[in-house]
Amino acid sequence: MAVIELQHVNKAFGAGLNRVSVLHNINFSADQGELSLILGPSGSGKSTLLTIIGGLQTADSGKVQIDGQNLAEMSAKQRDRLRLTTIGFILQSYNLLPYLNVADQFKLVDRVKRQGNLSKKALLQLLKELGIDNLLNHFPGELSGGQNQRVALARALYTDPQIILADEPTAALDSDRVQVVGKILQKMAKNHHKAVIVVTHDLRLRRFADHTYQLLDGKLRAQ
Ligand code: ADP
Ligand code: MG
Repeated sequence: MAVIELQHVNKAFGAGLNRVSVLHNINFSADQGELSLILGPSGSGKSTLLTIIGGLQTADSGKVQIDGQNLAEMSAKQRDRLRLTTIGFILQSYNLLPYLNVADQFKLVDRVKRQGNLSKKALLQLLKELGIDNLLNHFPGELSGGQNQRVALARALYTDPQIILADEPTAALDSDRVQVVGKILQKMAKNHHKAVIVVTHDLRLRRFADHTYQLLDGKLRAQ
């Protein structure tokens, strides 16, 4: 069975005349060792879909299974645990803590998840690849959008998660950096056997994907 499996997922926001159907009967699955790219314009429901896959919000109907476990049948605590141990989230808002410097963003992860994180050496290698190894003493407020985006990516990969969910991970990056990030995400899938899902409107990531989908008018189509 695929590590991520969505069946007949629906999601709407609002009520009555204000009701907007965002996701309509979504069927989707993703395997380890593959990078799946979900393309769609702004407002098409990409972030909604990704946060439902990661259990940060729930579908109105349908089934979401991660690693064979039905998210709806898990307690909030079990879902938290699954997110911590199995899923690396790269959110659109970066989600870095403003009062911690870059080095401490990783130390904080160590306190929440004590085992199975990257070694010091592997982390430094990753930071070098991303061109942010010289920023360890800087605070998020001192960094550019692109630098924060790469720190957020490194932090998500630091826990060595089985599943990587990335929301617009290249939105703030120039073309050279897009290639670097695309290659790292591809390597995570190919060499480290992770399931990587990227939602974006950035067509520059196409060449790194094993599967490409289009999210449009609430419907997901394979391309
Ligand atoms: P994308 O990430 O593709 O830009 P989103 O998933 O953020 O799209 O949003 C899809 C649609 O759902 C948008 O019309 C947005 O306004 C709406 N939406 C998203 N979250 C909420 C919410 N919590 N409450 C009401 N509407 C929402
Ligand atoms: Mg979004």
